[in-house]
Amino acid sequence: MANFRVLVSDPISDKGVEALAAAPGIEVDVHTGLPPEEFLKIIGDYDALVVRSQTKVTAEVLAAATKLKAVGRAGVGVDNIDRQAATDHGVIVMNTPTGNTISTAEHAFTLMLSCARNIGPAHAGVLAGDFKAARKAFQGIELNGKRLAVIGMGRIGSEFAKRAQAFNMEVVAYDPFLTESRARELKVTLAESPDAALNGADVVTLHVPLTESTQHLLNEQRLALMNPGAIVVNCARGGLIDEAALKAAIDSGHIAGCALDVFEVEPPPADHPLFSLGKHVTFTPHLGASTNEAQENVGIEVAIQIRDFLAT
Ligand code: NAD
Repeated sequence: MANFRVLVSDPISDKGVEALAAAPGIEVDVHTGLPPEEFLKIIGDYDALVVRSQTKVTAEVLAAATKLKAVGRAGVGVDNIDRQAATDHGVIVMNTPTGNTISTAEHAFTLMLSCARNIGPAHAGVLAGDFKAARKAFQGIELNGKRLAVIGMGRIGSEFAKRAQAFNMEVVAYDPFLTESRARELKVTLAESPDAALNGADVVTLHVPLTESTQHLLNEQRLALMNPGAIVVNCARGGLIDEAALKAAIDSGHIAGCALDVFEVEPPPADHPLFSLGKHVTFTPHLGASTNEAQENVGIEVAIQIRDFLAT
């Protein structure tokens, strides 16, 4: 008989589910895409919960989850989980920080290249039969020798920086926990503040968690510090950017464009103001960690963590 019941409420890899199901004493139910009221009804039956970013583990959910001991997040960001409420209810929250690092860094890098060379709008132009017009319209920006500000030099930011160096970009990084010696090792210039990193930057890429203190980290004043014609890349969390300020900076011509995988509100409305921009834009639907490799990695990692936690 199972000692513990685990609910998987967002899709994780089959290998992850199999690793959980194979653990002695664990019964696994996979119910993804449940409406919040259905989720609330059943959460009280489970000892552990596995989520990605879709399931919102709110204070209400945690209050209803009377048996719950652990929430495992297959991925990095835990902003969909009310951690204070989890702590209040004695529920441990775990994430799988390493499994999707490379995929997300590669995606952010793809966004930067795509934005600089207008891949999205040019592709749409070719498909629409406007080959000649698109060829004329979409002159790009070269990245060679450009100054890149990396805000957040953790796992993903560091991998982005390495790739940018291969493109001969000058990398300036801000991270309150980045030491001089680590910056030297990574061959980046350490900035003492976000403003110092952004001052004179041609590209900014954000790789910090979304917290109260990083909300709208990229605002009107900071966008104004960047070089004219700069581009903004965000593959971390939408709330890091004041989207209205970004739109205004692009409209004014100061910022050339943006490449975003994440939005303040997801899914963003179809009439999102940034979607009306014609050049130097690339938008993807929160695909940073969506590779075969990353999903397998994080699915297995979260399964092992939950299994080991319940076994102790
Ligand atoms: P990480 O913890 O390794 O790195 C985050 C870094 O941000 C840390 O080094 C930390 O010191 C730094 N930091 C914290 N506050 C800061 C601030 N105010 N200014 C500058 N730096 C600050 O995390 P990671 O694995 O590199 O992931 C970064 C973020 O990427 C995650 O929090 C997550 O939100 C996001 N992410 C998005 C996707 C996606 O699908 N788009 C996938 C994975 C991760």
